[in-house]
Amino acid sequence: MPPLPELPPVHRVPAFADNYIWLFEYEPGTVAAVDPGDAAPVLAFVERRGLAISHILNTHWHPDHVGGNRAIKAASGCTVVGPAREADRIPGIDRAVDAGDGVMLGAHEARVLFVGGHTAGHIAYHVPSARALFSGDTLFAMGCGRLFEGTPDDMFQSLARLAALPPETRVFCAHEYTLANACFAVTVEPGNAALAARYAAVQEARRRNEPTVPFALAEELATNPFVRAGSPARLGEIRRAKDAFQPA
Ligand SMILES: [Zn+2]
Repeated sequence: MPPLPELPPVHRVPAFADNYIWLFEYEPGTVAAVDPGDAAPVLAFVERRGLAISHILNTHWHPDHVGGNRAIKAASGCTVVGPAREADRIPGIDRAVDAGDGVMLGAHEARVLFVGGHTAGHIAYHVPSARALFSGDTLFAMGCGRLFEGTPDDMFQSLARLAALPPETRVFCAHEYTLANACFAVTVEPGNAALAARYAAVQEARRRNEPTVPFALAEELATNPFVRAGSPARLGEIRRAKDAFQPA
């Protein structure tokens, strides 16, 4: 048997208070930057590591995801890919994509999934060959994005679409919201042993100042109350409760 191919590296660049910008090194020395809200930390990282940026992949128009587009494009000449339904709000966009489209990154294909709800045109990028999902602000560890431009039904469908991906998929979301999400999730599912164990592990990781992203999609199927809501109405109830939640 040939050895399993090694997964390409995905580099984490922290930005602002709790954003993660992901640099997918799809071939040695070349990266696609996912949701670069800030150019400076990205350009410093690639300079230090001798990496070239070939693409920006945006999931939605929020400034903390697209704010670095123009400066990174000017510095690298990269191609900016973003959601077709929000194309007019994506700075420097070269290619507008929607559900069913694919973005070739060397030998890897990033497949575009429509996941509206947080914003009306939000997309995610699934790279099956890298077992990677870039979920933006739609799916978080034990949480989901706020419904700024969509309905509970929109988010229900979006999460169902993501939950149907292979469970071993590694989820690269755009924020370190895990601890706050876990703190709320245990109030929704107090009897969920897997969730209680994950909450404890996350508290420990954050105490040591370690990141909790990426994580396996399988963990969400077992512990994420939004993924597990069962109906749009229930998801809406949980979302409203989370929006009003004040941790003890
Ligand atoms: Zn957002």
